[in-house]
Amino acid sequence: MRLYNSLTRTVEEFRPREPGRVGLYTCGPTVHDFAHIGNFRAYAWEDLLRRHLEARGLAVHHVMNITDVEDKIIRKAAAAGASLREYTDRYTAAFFEDARALRLLPAHVYPRATEHIPEMIELVRRLEAAGHTYRSEGSVYYRIGSFPGYGRLSGLDPDSLRAGARVDADEYEKDDPSDFVLWKAQKPGEPAWDSPWGPGRPGWHIECSAMAMKYLGESFDLHTGGVDNKFPHHENEIAQSEGATGQPFVRHWMHCSHLIVNGEKMSKSLGNFYTLRDLLERGHEPRLIRYLLVGTHYRNQLDFSEKALEQGRAELSRVDNAAERLARLATVERGEARLAPRVEAAREAFFAALDDDLNVSGAMGEAFQLVRDVNAAVDRGEASREDAAAFEAFLADADRVFGVLRPWQPVEAAPAEVLALLDARQAARAAKNWAESDRLRDAILAAGFVIEDTREGPQLKRRA
Ligand SMILES: [Zn+2]
Repeated sequence: MRLYNSLTRTVEEFRPREPGRVGLYTCGPTVHDFAHIGNFRAYAWEDLLRRHLEARGLAVHHVMNITDVEDKIIRKAAAAGASLREYTDRYTAAFFEDARALRLLPAHVYPRATEHIPEMIELVRRLEAAGHTYRSEGSVYYRIGSFPGYGRLSGLDPDSLRAGARVDADEYEKDDPSDFVLWKAQKPGEPAWDSPWGPGRPGWHIECSAMAMKYLGESFDLHTGGVDNKFPHHENEIAQSEGATGQPFVRHWMHCSHLIVNGEKMSKSLGNFYTLRDLLERGHEPRLIRYLLVGTHYRNQLDFSEKALEQGRAELSRVDNAAERLARLATVERGEARLAPRVEAAREAFFAALDDDLNVSGAMGEAFQLVRDVNAAVDRGEASREDAAAFEAFLADADRVFGVLRPWQPVEAAPAEVLALLDARQAARAAKNWAESDRLRDAILAAGFVIEDTREGPQLKRRA
């Protein structure tokens, strides 16, 4: 499989460190609000990437962080009169609900920043010992001039590094490389943790370095995010991790391009800013939204528009109609499987396209060509029950990656309290607290639902 590597700026053979196993870190949500569809473009593409790696037989260990402390969160929680935990729990639950609506495979670990403060402090200490930091007014900064590789990922000119300029903000201006904060001294009224440098909190960038290395090791295979994460966030992650360990942090970096709406940058002031919830409330099917999010090559800008929705709807119904026509045949016709070799060739071409840096339009082109051939065979009266089964099997395989090629059965709507119990059970299982997990399963059962563990994560079904 060949994948573009942002670090080398080339499409290269993807070779995991350990044959057959992949460590994958995807930058997760900052839980200060509902995630918008631009965020979900990244999560949906990462889901497609993971599913394709798995379809090719690789065992993926997927870690996605939950950033539950940073500038915006602190400001908004204070404005809402909520504790950090109350405030972020609300939006973390909303994120999981949205991710389920789009059928994103759950990560294996969702580390929360506030639960990994000791790991972050330890990493800052290592950086301090290695001479990469300085202190000022109770805060600790990373001296980017001390790390010769700084700028390699984002392609910044090392000569543009402004020695001594520094920023305290978690996010800062593009193309303005500056010393960045690792540990921020507490300001009045802000939440804080004790540290060797006094009370304070971690900067955003150190969160991902500490949690990625805790769950995937000091060197791992694959790290992804939106193109906005490349600088400064990922550049800083590299400086922090490699500055501390002296090891290459990540072998392969991948970034997806922006999502725009009707040809324009999505923004609240233009009135074209959508959360996933906004779209669902307008009656758009989650299946169609997922199709649009994964249907554009990840390195191309995705234009989310009415026209794209319409076109997507027509494309999905073409697939559905062909499957239905064949399924109807399946109950009456019986004959030789004339289409089977054609289906086999389509399957090979479909996966070969995905092996080529996730060429989704090539893969879907193969699927649509097959749909045309299937329809033509039905028209000629040459399709059989065996052909229907072969086509169904192709759709099932292709859908393990795309997740949209077969109609979605509506998921039983469970009340919010029951969904909260389900999330708590997930957390208990992640913490290997089996007694608690069993207790929560019984509570869900008492509320009238049974849990079915599926590939897309646990689903609730009303008790018969
Ligand atoms: Zn991150």
